[in-house]
Amino acid sequence: MSLAIEEYMSPKIFEKIRSFSEDKETPFLVIDTDTINSHLDNLVQAFPYAGIFYAVKANPAVEILTLLRDRDVNFDIASIYELDRVLSLGISPDRISFGNTIKKSKDIRYFYEKGVRMYATDSEADLRNLAKAAPGARVYVRILTEGTSTADWPLSRKFGCQSDMSMDLIILARDLGLVPYGLSFHVGSQQRDIGTWDAAIGKVKVIFERLQEEDGIELQMINMGGGFPASYVTKANDLATYAHEITRFLKESFGETLPRIIIEPGRSLVSDAGVLVSEVVLISRKSRTALNRWVYTDVGKFSGLIETMGESIKYPIYTGRKGEVEEVILAGPTCDSADIMYEDYKYKLPLNLAISDRLYWLSTGAYTQTYSAVEFNGFPPLESYFI
Ligand SMILES: *Cc1c(COP(=O)(O)O)cnc(C)c1O
Repeated sequence: MSLAIEEYMSPKIFEKIRSFSEDKETPFLVIDTDTINSHLDNLVQAFPYAGIFYAVKANPAVEILTLLRDRDVNFDIASIYELDRVLSLGISPDRISFGNTIKKSKDIRYFYEKGVRMYATDSEADLRNLAKAAPGARVYVRILTEGTSTADWPLSRKFGCQSDMSMDLIILARDLGLVPYGLSFHVGSQQRDIGTWDAAIGKVKVIFERLQEEDGIELQMINMGGGFPASYVTKANDLATYAHEITRFLKESFGETLPRIIIEPGRSLVSDAGVLVSEVVLISRKSRTALNRWVYTDVGKFSGLIETMGESIKYPIYTGRKGEVEEVILAGPTCDSADIMYEDYKYKLPLNLAISDRLYWLSTGAYTQTYSAVEFNGFPPLESYFI
């Protein structure tokens, strides 16, 4: 059996993308903006009480930022470059959060001068920089969470601090004249275990209470980060199930009157809107008796598919060919032997797959185009089109 499109996206939208792609030279990414709109509708419906801050790093294309700007979405930003782009689209700085805990003092100052007043932190050194370069700003402290093994693309360890330290930082923020605004966490991207939010919200609750009781500090905000699912080969629950459970966890901890809640979707908003179109360059066997064919395509780890590192993200691949399938090893076009996408996990592609056939990589709207190398082996960065 080859892949059934309808398991991952509307066949009508796929057909729209396929026919748009027909006369274009591969590889390239096509983003269907209607899909982003409908995913945003779903998010708003699922979390009606939450402020949405789009994680710009997922896909910073102007077409996407403009669409989200016009729908009153806010923006989670990680660098002065993302900031410049977002501001150049007429987005006001009060819709922006500087969510990167790793930042230069001069970059904090740049954000502050542009009018941004909300900052993430997870260390004393950064907090002291914030107090100097962004006096009086609101800060929220990122805490460490569990869930590395159930997130397909973990964002833990590198970011966040232990609960005790988060309390020290909140108190220090107050003492340095900053506004101790709240806490944040990110349970890991493409997090398949909804229980990780329960654990994180439980931690947040304890910190809220202790700060109130012991230090008289009333935190106002919880930033629940991203981690919401896109449609890949390894299945996750649908967004409504995530929202139902997470809302229940929040209400069990905080009652009906919740603090201000923020979410920072990246992947779940834009991933399913993208189809990466590639072409088969070569098909070969490594010996007379080899069981598996190698399929080399004109897209690889260095042209947008970096999240296949460790075979973490398994994109659904559609070929258009019918009939019997066999297990293959899938690799990219460059002269680097790390440029193999899937070898342990065996994709089953049609036996009649041939050189110059097209491969359609579904759910590639997030974390692809900007990860594409600038010139490795001379290959240009991945092109993208918006329809
Ligand atoms: C990357 C990132 C996100 C987006 O996460 P997704 O899992 O793609 O939704 C949100 N918040 C922060 C701070 C991030 O670094």
